[in-house]
Amino acid sequence: MSQVAVIGCGVVGAAIAYELSLVVGLDVTLLDKQAPASGSTGAALGILMGAISHKTKGRSWRLRQTSMQRYETLIPELEAITGEIIPFNRQGILMLRFNEEDEAQWDKLAAIRQSQGYNLETWDRKQLQEKCPHIASDKILGAIYSPQDRQVNPQILTTALVAGAAKNGVNCRFGVVVENVSSTALAGSNIRRCCQIHTSAGTIEVDWLVIAAGLGSTPLTASLAEKIDIRPVLGQALHLKLDRPIGNLDFQPIITGDDIHIVPLGGGEYWVGATVEFPDSAGEVVAQKELLEQVKQQAIAYCPALADAIVINTWSGKRPRPEGQPAPIIRELPGYSNVLLATGHYRNGVLLAPATALIIRDMLTLPR
Ligand SMILES: Cc1cc2nc3c(=O)[nH]c(=O)nc-3n(C[C@H](O)[C@H](O)[C@H](O)COP(=O)(O)OP(=O)(O)OC[C@H]3O[C@@H](n4cnc5c(N)ncnc54)[C@H](O)[C@@H]3O)c2cc1C
Repeated sequence: MSQVAVIGCGVVGAAIAYELSLVVGLDVTLLDKQAPASGSTGAALGILMGAISHKTKGRSWRLRQTSMQRYETLIPELEAITGEIIPFNRQGILMLRFNEEDEAQWDKLAAIRQSQGYNLETWDRKQLQEKCPHIASDKILGAIYSPQDRQVNPQILTTALVAGAAKNGVNCRFGVVVENVSSTALAGSNIRRCCQIHTSAGTIEVDWLVIAAGLGSTPLTASLAEKIDIRPVLGQALHLKLDRPIGNLDFQPIITGDDIHIVPLGGGEYWVGATVEFPDSAGEVVAQKELLEQVKQQAIAYCPALADAIVINTWSGKRPRPEGQPAPIIRELPGYSNVLLATGHYRNGVLLAPATALIIRDMLTLPR
């Protein structure tokens, strides 16, 4: 049995642990200093912008396509294993259009998506009004509807992935801090091999190490003298409640306009978010109340009924954004033969977790 340690139990680490639990011959330990989904994942809205994203080729599109496909099997698979329902909105994503100029761009994207097997519908104001009567603003020209895009509850998904992994034999250890990692040089080469991780609960021998620790990946890689710089980009969001659901009750897609998202939760409840707040030169970022209020007002501007909602919760989280390289980072740690990075997913970690897990599984199991 090969000993694999996965550090970090956000949605990315949990997806990796689950996918590895399906492979014969691996003895997997999943570690987190907190409870599952306590990092960025705990703040996420779970919107899976696949077909509606502007990525059409290369790695960015392949990751999205792989995740979209895997989600369709993963959700029923986890529901069958755990016996729990995972909230997974299959009613698509509706993107509001405010700009005449982007029409040609959307037509081009729709044609590409059609060739890739995805459908994007262009709606004018009248169609939008019929299908989503709760959306009303003079500035809206129409909308793009992407029926194959989804939204998932990130916390419930992560819990289900952990439960599935544990059922398949993964050793899940929470409240355990990985303090540092030791390695040895491979004879006759300048490549090193990680052999042990040192945790607040003792030392663990490893054959493979997967670092999926979000913002915590920076100090961990620094302890291996190969620092990967990941910085926080803060996001705030709100949970709103109305005394009645709005719009057409049979059609409740995720609505997004000018990067402000409204996620229907059922029973007149909605998540609305999120701010995008960058750190200062010292790497610090503190939530600014007025930016959250701006997000709320922008949502009300295109969905006026939300003005009557009460705020039942607000929260913030820090997205892990790689500095100086594209998100996400899914590759070997340079200079090491057995350390894999699955981190820096920035704004799309929930979307890209299934594809990330499949890549890590292949890196661990396919001959190199
Ligand atoms: C407001 C907001 C909205 C978002 N909405 C979306 C969305 O709609 N769709 C989408 O796809 N993405 C969204 N995101 C982004 C998404 O949340 C992240 O990309 C994703 O959660 C990253 O997952 P992760 O597992 O890599 O990191 P995290 O969830 O941060 O998990 C990392 C884990 O590592 C653990 N850890 C760190 N260091 C150590 C250590 N030394 N020892 C042990 N454990 C350690 C931490 O405790 C943590 O649990 C949003 C983010 C925010 C903040």
